[in-house]
Amino acid sequence: MPRHFDTTFDVVKELKPSYPVYCLRPNILRETAQRFVEMFPGDVLYAVKCNPHPEVMRYLHEGGVRHFDTASPEEIALVRRQFPGMKAYFMHPVKSRDAIRNAHRVFGIDHYVIDTVEELEKIREETEGDKKLVIHVRLATPPAGATYNLSAKFGARPMVAAELLKKVDEYGYEAGLCFHVGSQCTTPNGYRIAVELIRQVVDFSGVQVRHIDVGGGFPGQYMNQRGASLEEFMDEIKDCIRWLDMPDTTFMCEPGRALVSSGVSLITQVHLRKEDTLFINDGVYGSLSETVTGQLRYPVRPLRINGEFNQEETLDFTIYGPTCDNMDVLPAAVSLPADIREGDWIEFGHIGAYSNALATHFNGFFPEMQVTVGEAFPFVDGEFPYVA
Ligand SMILES: *Cc1c(COP(=O)(O)O)cnc(C)c1O
Repeated sequence: MPRHFDTTFDVVKELKPSYPVYCLRPNILRETAQRFVEMFPGDVLYAVKCNPHPEVMRYLHEGGVRHFDTASPEEIALVRRQFPGMKAYFMHPVKSRDAIRNAHRVFGIDHYVIDTVEELEKIREETEGDKKLVIHVRLATPPAGATYNLSAKFGARPMVAAELLKKVDEYGYEAGLCFHVGSQCTTPNGYRIAVELIRQVVDFSGVQVRHIDVGGGFPGQYMNQRGASLEEFMDEIKDCIRWLDMPDTTFMCEPGRALVSSGVSLITQVHLRKEDTLFINDGVYGSLSETVTGQLRYPVRPLRINGEFNQEETLDFTIYGPTCDNMDVLPAAVSLPADIREGDWIEFGHIGAYSNALATHFNGFFPEMQVTVGEAFPFVDGEFPYVA
């Protein structure tokens, strides 16, 4: 169990960490999971890739998450090791034959995704004639509001999806349809457009579709991207489900980011200041890789234990990470107190999604220290009150 502190200020006062520290908020992770599970009219699958840390998954499970969206044998094993009775789903449209055999034989996985007939044949061949499988056909969706669109890589076009459904049905499997609007989708409209496509595909195929999976993509709150509220997303989705009018169908979703982003912050330390440039101990090869496209900016707050910052004057700083690569720099300048100096700390908020999951060991730097913290990262009335 990680050590517990009331505040992140207590963390820096006590540990004076020269290494990056992930501050997990068990309460926020539990409450977010609970809210999601209560509001979504169906099964909530946590997308494990977003943050596979066992402590994070534990709090989500305590908040009521009982299903896990996985994409590799390693992720399936991770879920089963930690939660032996929980259900994992193999939701990757392109799987190796070994992975399919392993998932089916060793773990008894019964939900799979395809977007081609070739993948369907692979599953049929590697699952020893087992008919008790649910095969989801992944539908490509038009780009609508998502910061990271994935439909170029995965998903069948509507006519192809309808043909695949027929084939799934003909082979005697239960049929499902799924889509993923892309990550950090800031408006609910993308889900409506996708559900309208679902309707057409269902009607055209004439197949009884037992499962509809609306994927992930629900947004986190960042400096430059607030996104609609979870209530707005859920209202839209409930409305879509009423409109579909498919009472014998189970609905599913696969949130990653929205479940974990606000539940973790990261404390970093300034190791050198060179005029308006700061060198800190984490960067784009570690926890901060999601900043590289310039599309997401985390809220920050400066922390100092021996004295106060001069809050009057701020300065825009270029922030470099610890590796020797000159690409290891945040793409946007960060506004911080003008008197920030070596030894101060900078806390990055809302960093639970795609941070530790993407960290490398490049140059010998690897962020791995974890603590739990009681206080939330400050976010009041839709605003981050700190200098940033
Ligand atoms: C990554 C992924 C998710 C989770 O996406 P978030 O944007 O983190 O909610 C869900 N489903 C699929 C298929 C994914 O690839």
